[in-house]
Amino acid sequence: MRRSFDLAIVGGGPCGLYASLLASKSGLDTVLFEEHGEIGSPRHCAGHISIKGLRALGLRIPQRLLTGTYRGAVLHSPSDRILFLDAGEEVSVSIDREGFERHLADLSEGAGTALVLGERVKGIRPLGESLEILPSSPNSDPVRCKIAIDAEGYPPKLLGEMRAWSPRHYSALMGIGAEVEEVHGIREGFVELYFGRDTAPGFFAWLIPLRGGGARIGLATERGNPKELLDRFVRNRLIGSGKLPDRPRMVEMKPHPIPIWRGNYGTYGDGLLVVGDAASQVKPTTGGGLFLGMSCSAMAVETAKMALSSGDWGRASMKRYERLWRKAFSLELRLMGAVRRIALGLEDRGIDALFDELSGSALLEAVSRSPEMDLQGRAILGALLDPIRFLLAAKALWRSFLEAYLKRG
Ligand SMILES: Cc1cc2nc3c(=O)[nH]c(=O)nc-3n(C[C@H](O)[C@H](O)[C@H](O)COP(=O)(O)OP(=O)(O)OC[C@H]3O[C@@H](n4cnc5c(N)ncnc54)[C@H](O)[C@@H]3O)c2cc1C
Repeated sequence: MRRSFDLAIVGGGPCGLYASLLASKSGLDTVLFEEHGEIGSPRHCAGHISIKGLRALGLRIPQRLLTGTYRGAVLHSPSDRILFLDAGEEVSVSIDREGFERHLADLSEGAGTALVLGERVKGIRPLGESLEILPSSPNSDPVRCKIAIDAEGYPPKLLGEMRAWSPRHYSALMGIGAEVEEVHGIREGFVELYFGRDTAPGFFAWLIPLRGGGARIGLATERGNPKELLDRFVRNRLIGSGKLPDRPRMVEMKPHPIPIWRGNYGTYGDGLLVVGDAASQVKPTTGGGLFLGMSCSAMAVETAKMALSSGDWGRASMKRYERLWRKAFSLELRLMGAVRRIALGLEDRGIDALFDELSGSALLEAVSRSPEMDLQGRAILGALLDPIRFLLAAKALWRSFLEAYLKRG
């Protein structure tokens, strides 16, 4: 294998692969390292993404990789009060995540990326004006590059090794998913979200129907054992409601962390850019990292291109990337972080009360009709600019807190 490249990418998940595709397409000499021998496995993600997001990324998903299309969501409160969010048209899809990553890898390789599979990178080290990528196999030689993109996912161990990250910079939920073969009694074209402390403390559980009658189910949680919570979710809320048969056929995935952005760390260094889960570029309200992370990958590649053409890939030049992505997304991350802390931090009675208040409200209507699935903070902010909706939302939250407080007292 060649020993010198313009750009080296560590991590063959969606963010690393998308970065390598864009970089190779624009003529950068690119190598990508993935520790697993196969792209796309092991899988942990539910593969739900907005249609608008895919368009913005310029990605056309082949039909064979589409596993479902959706126009909204059915939200279930802890005591099964229900809210419908109906956009009135198809707004999101689910994709075959392994197939999607393999598709990106094929496109990327076709555009000229050197893919190195089954090779874990154990370090990234400065070497003069370049960087040295250190593979962990004893027989592999170090590779030199001008710029490296760290797309290693969460937790970012390489960054930790470079002392650019420590666990106190991040907080994370634990997510777990499974695929079930048959599901009944669901509304076609709607994903289902389930809230409640017994179901998914501090977050929610989901059911994403798939073409062919099955579904992806899963949850994320702030605490507790995700596997036990998943079993309880299946038993109490899915088998209990007749959506799953008594003994559902299920393929479970391993639990995987979902980082929550806290905003207090840098995502660049000399010749270095950090993207995706490694940079905590994940929507705090949904745990969705595909659109955000891949959008940031595009900004990282843009920055790398400019730096290489100017001949300066020092820290100051790399800072452009962080400015770009924070400008695009940090307001959103802050707003949605606050929504998550308020709404998902409520006691069960508070969540039930919030459902009652929101049911049939103008605020709910405005949010569900908003074309913004990826930038929900803006949708909510836009809806709240109307003073009547603002007052209704304040009243709803106040009642929810009151209910929760009275319950505790
Ligand atoms: C249960 C669950 C469900 C989810 N569902 C959704 C969803 O429906 N929609 C959505 O948008 N998001 C979802 N997400 C989040 C989404 O999966 C992540 O945001 C996304 O995978 C991040 O991509 P990434 O490329 O940054 O990291 P990853 O997907 O984690 O990829 C990182 C890659 O780097 C490799 N790697 C790590 N270290 C090294 C190393 N040292 N050397 C070489 N290779 C290395 C890893 O093996 C891995 O292949 C979900 C997450 C979970 C846990």
